[in-house]
Amino acid sequence: MIKLKHVQKKYSDGYIALKDINLECKEGEITVLIGPSGCGKSTTLKLLNRLINPTKGKIYIDSKDISNINPVKLRRAIGYVIQHIGLFPHLTISENVAVVPTLLQWDNDRIEKRVDELLDLVGLDPETYRNRRPSELSGGQQQRVGVIRAMAADPSIILMDEAFSALDPISREQLQDELIRLQKDIKKTIVFVTHDMDEALKIADKIVLMKDGEIVQEGTPENILRHPANDFVKNFIGKKRLQQVADIPIAEEVMNRKPATTFPNRGLAESVKMMERRQVDSLLIVNDQNELQGYITIYDVLYQYRDETKRVCDILQPFQHAISPDTLLTDVMQMIDEYKLPYIPVVNEEKKLLGIVTRGSIVGFLSDIYPPQTGVM
Ligand code: ADP
Ligand code: MG
Repeated sequence: MIKLKHVQKKYSDGYIALKDINLECKEGEITVLIGPSGCGKSTTLKLLNRLINPTKGKIYIDSKDISNINPVKLRRAIGYVIQHIGLFPHLTISENVAVVPTLLQWDNDRIEKRVDELLDLVGLDPETYRNRRPSELSGGQQQRVGVIRAMAADPSIILMDEAFSALDPISREQLQDELIRLQKDIKKTIVFVTHDMDEALKIADKIVLMKDGEIVQEGTPENILRHPANDFVKNFIGKKRLQQVADIPIAEEVMNRKPATTFPNRGLAESVKMMERRQVDSLLIVNDQNELQGYITIYDVLYQYRDETKRVCDILQPFQHAISPDTLLTDVMQMIDEYKLPYIPVVNEEKKLLGIVTRGSIVGFLSDIYPPQTGVM
């Protein structure tokens, strides 16, 4: 986790590039900083690896105040990819990727193995590319090398400043797709700077929109699209995108707000009665703070666990899938279909249960907005 608390950056000429930034970048997530040129995105990134230092405020990485960490050490522990990656032209691809592991004095076998593994990861055949020079690679391939160079010593944090901005649109999309695919496995804490909203919407877990050294709005891509804070945000997103998203309903509009629930410490006999009464074949289990714990089904109760002295907590199973209230209905339907779910629970950021979306609630919702035409059925 990266935390910025009341961070100000005043450059030596007196210009205040960041005013009073408070920001959290969660572990394993991609936080995207976006905003017009000059708003302070790159300044924010450079503060994180101490290329520059704040004039006020504190920055913490995993609760450690980074002003106490040696900047050189810190930089070796954080991957950094910039727009014009600056591969060393006289070094081979393999030597370029190995820069940090070499500084860290890994042994040669380990370095070679790691370089090949990383080249494979981004679809560059090690046999073919290992000994080439950067000038013998396309722009997209060079940028891939820049990305894996940043990952080489397996840092838990990677900073990417307009890393894909200089590429042609096709290479750019490919690298975005690769980053999303890689991130599923590597789960790094990534802070990604861009000025391109499409890129932000595509890759971000959280978008942080900046203007004139301040944060204007932050949230999930869905959240920002659904609830732009002001005209600046609306303009930045663009009318077309706002229109597109406004047309698709979200889970919150479709969900059943009163699913049948019970508590972990309740008896099984009581739960069966409740299922009968509510005419359902499963119950959602919440604790006394309404946080979702899992579910039980009538089949589990009746066939697998005949022992009625057992309680709900003895047999409950966790949910593999849950969604946030602003999930697009199209995405909900895809999940229900793909994972063959009877329903899917909707939870807020604190994992509190808000409702469930069932196949039935979707059909009900759609038939409300598309009423049958007269003469049909
Ligand atoms: P962004 O990456 O969002 O385009 P930057 O963080 O690079 O913006 O810059 C933010 C502001 O700080 C800009 O107005 C820029 O001109 C100014 N700035 C950046 N670096 C320096 C510097 N070394 N000295 C003075 N001003 C700077
Ligand atoms: Mg910049």
